[in-house]
Amino acid sequence: MRTVTTPAQMKDEARRARSKGQRIGLVPTMGALHKGHLSLVARARSECDLVVLSIFVNRLQFGPTEDFTKYPRDLDRDTGCARTAGVGILFVPSDDAIHPAGHRTLVRVSGMQDVLCGRTRPGHFEAVATVVAKLFSIVRPDSAYFGEKDAQQLRIIRRMARDLHDEVEVVGCPTVRDRDGLALSSRNSYLTHAERRAAPVLYRALREVPERVRAGETDAASLVRSVREVIASRPEAEIEYVEAVDDETLEPVIAINRPTLVATAVRFGRARLIDNIVVGG
Ligand code: AMP
Repeated sequence: MRTVTTPAQMKDEARRARSKGQRIGLVPTMGALHKGHLSLVARARSECDLVVLSIFVNRLQFGPTEDFTKYPRDLDRDTGCARTAGVGILFVPSDDAIHPAGHRTLVRVSGMQDVLCGRTRPGHFEAVATVVAKLFSIVRPDSAYFGEKDAQQLRIIRRMARDLHDEVEVVGCPTVRDRDGLALSSRNSYLTHAERRAAPVLYRALREVPERVRAGETDAASLVRSVREVIASRPEAEIEYVEAVDDETLEPVIAINRPTLVATAVRFGRARLIDNIVVGG
């Protein structure tokens, strides 16, 4: 595994791989690697000749009161994990390298970025789309791997790639969970013991959605209400939202008669956790 830190080096490495006919897979991350990230690497390895894993904690996507400075960082540990997982190139650019002095360009995927998590995180998805567009343009991967856990992000990136005529294949990968159902997340490290015990309620609540749909429920509002009730049964949980939206456009749905994303964001103390499930169609 080689570690590269500048876009110029990264472009050289990618160019060399392409000239050998290698298929390049990109796994963008913010580090603090866990089994969720490594499942994306495994998928990329199974489909590509060269796996590029990027680690970039993108300052622009954190709000002024969010956890940019506290976000877990451990490059030595991440380097070991990446090497063991079979990453070919670890790309760890600096802030200035990704956002050069005087930068003015932002990528806005309108409509999709201001709903769900975008409502309480203004500018977040614009910053995510911008950094991913930059990574795509530096690495020019054949495929890029994203987790289903970050459902809104995945759909925004898919739309962006289509809109920009980027031929990258955007691959969504299933959410990796702990044994009790809690989706793995770098932010789980913020949970106290009591909060950690309460947090699997997210998955328990969402798991009931397909059961209710199978039993004939088609009313989105009623499904959302039942998810809220299960989550609210834990006093540690402070619900930010539970919503049912079109699986592709993220527009609200009234009836579950097409693929529908049921997504939630819930605070447990310092940790803001998200999870989702797709039903219908
Ligand atoms: P992050 O470092 O949190 O920005 O995540 C980097 C990538 O890993 C994103 O595409 C996430 O959706 C994905 N990811 C994070 N957690 C999980 C998980 N538990 N299962 C699968 N993918 C995940």
